[in-house]
Amino acid sequence: VLVSRIRNFSIIAHIDHGKSTLADRLLQETGTVAAREMKQQFLDNMELERERGITIKLQAARMNYTAQDGEQYVLNLIDTPGHVDFSYEVSRSLVACEGALLVVDASQGVEAQTLANVYLALEHNLEIIPVLNKIDLPGAEPERVKAEIEEIIGLDCSNAILASAKEGIGVHEILESIVHLVPPPQETVEKPLRALIFDSYYDSYRGVIVYFRVMDGNVKKGDRVRLMATGKEYEIDELGVLSPTQVPLDELHAGEVGYLAASIKAVADARVGDTITLAAQPASEPLPGYTEAKPMVFCGLFPTDADQFGDLREALERLKLNDAALSYEPETSSAMGFGFRCGFLGLLHMEIVQERLEREYDLDLIVTAPSVVYRVTTVKGEVLNIDNPSTLMPPQEREKVEEPYVQVDMITPEEFVGPLMELCQTRRGIFKDMRYLAQGRTTLIYELPLAEVVTDFFDQLKSRSRGYASMEYQMIGYREDNLVRLDIMINNDPVDALVMIVHRDKAYNVGRALVEKLKELIPRHQFKVPIQAAIGSRIIASEHIPALRKDVLAKCYGGDISRKKKLLQEQAKGKKRMKSIGTVEVPQSAFMAVLRLD
Ligand code: GDP
Ligand code: MG
Repeated sequence: VLVSRIRNFSIIAHIDHGKSTLADRLLQETGTVAAREMKQQFLDNMELERERGITIKLQAARMNYTAQDGEQYVLNLIDTPGHVDFSYEVSRSLVACEGALLVVDASQGVEAQTLANVYLALEHNLEIIPVLNKIDLPGAEPERVKAEIEEIIGLDCSNAILASAKEGIGVHEILESIVHLVPPPQETVEKPLRALIFDSYYDSYRGVIVYFRVMDGNVKKGDRVRLMATGKEYEIDELGVLSPTQVPLDELHAGEVGYLAASIKAVADARVGDTITLAAQPASEPLPGYTEAKPMVFCGLFPTDADQFGDLREALERLKLNDAALSYEPETSSAMGFGFRCGFLGLLHMEIVQERLEREYDLDLIVTAPSVVYRVTTVKGEVLNIDNPSTLMPPQEREKVEEPYVQVDMITPEEFVGPLMELCQTRRGIFKDMRYLAQGRTTLIYELPLAEVVTDFFDQLKSRSRGYASMEYQMIGYREDNLVRLDIMINNDPVDALVMIVHRDKAYNVGRALVEKLKELIPRHQFKVPIQAAIGSRIIASEHIPALRKDVLAKCYGGDISRKKKLLQEQAKGKKRMKSIGTVEVPQSAFMAVLRLD
């Protein structure tokens, strides 16, 4: 393929604005996937993704397109994940492109997620083509949304494309714009090989399948390649293009996008952002921008049934093969027994892993509340990273505790500014900026402790804005604060899995609310169950669950048989996802109670 006929692009869109629908249309229009083969939404091929309507893992597709000028072009679409947890992967796939379609729902407008990704694309000098989607909807206001894009992003929208991915309107125009506006890759085939990894997944037969863009030079089947971050070398068994299924070829050149298999054992050995070069003639410098995705949120995973510990370990090992950002190590909890402390990029990543463990590996798990990584300086001057609150040492042994802060950018219709500011205030937010955008929409910027964001902040933002506000966050560093350790006792046993690190000013209220919530969530037993919250040796809140009255069950006997059956069934169902702490049965929901305090 001539480099001048290649166009590499991605699609930037807020969730639900129509990215997947448009991608499918492009594949169909170029004959890459015949309409009858078209599964619903070809690019989102993971079950979980389809259910949640989000793109978690990136995919790519190569299309052949004969443009109006009569020439044949190769268009490579590189899809990007649509969630903040994966913003590093987004940035790597944008770097692999020369252009991007900015898809905005013409009945909605610009959202925070869109903004973050457009800025990333602008930073990497991508040509951005604005597309106003869903113009078939009666509520579409393309002129208003154009004005908004111009005002917020400063992007000329006079040639913005009006489209309906659903009805196929504007699709031809989009293809022509890609050909004419997105620049071709640079001609760097003479340079030593440098290929950028923008995605990878584990295949049990061929090992890791790496998706890459050749930035410089060329790469052939049989080549011995080196991954520059790890220094490891592999021989390429197979290489090819994605059209959109894998089609093997012998060679790929600068500007092209493809996949390779080289008996790589785990995706952690071929990380997103790493540079592939030739072992024989290595490039002198790797491509810029490589960082290892670091887990930001941690939680404990414990099998409800201790016998499943081995199965859980195996399942985590398997998932890890395919997920470089997942981390885990064995954890022993006095309350919960043997389990794992696991690290994730964010809450969504955590939920995905949890769901896959339960669904695909049929495990019955107790998951403890998420925690961020605290930085603790001891009196001896040691600096420790603490991702498990129950390992925080007593106050006399520590000098200071620092916690990660994030900048949160929100976009909301004006009428919800008040409720959102109130939300940020209660989460220890520091107001930074507020700007009025077009048509009664406002952007709000706060700095917040990550710990306050990883709880239910996103759900709160959505419910306080009736679903209209959107958000995006990025790490800004560590800050010291007056943080204390809050312990919980159930039936006089301290429960290490419920330990929290909280701000001193909030400790009393959180302790109080948590104890009340636990009282609600833990079922009654034959005996009275006291529940207490403490800071150090000082009890700050106390409640008890009264003992079960014997006649509650007795009433059923001899009575309505179907009701009795139902009660027993419910009991059986309730037995799952319970953990015995001492003699008290504690349900999964109790370990997440802290996420539902207000
Ligand atoms: P994504 O989250 O950006 O990938 O969005 P999807 O492609 O999954 O689309 C979200 C929803 O919008 C789906 O229900 C689509 O059927 C619908 N949708 C996408 N494009 C259009 C369009 O042009 N018009 C209308 N009316 N609906 C659309
Ligand atoms: Mg999608």
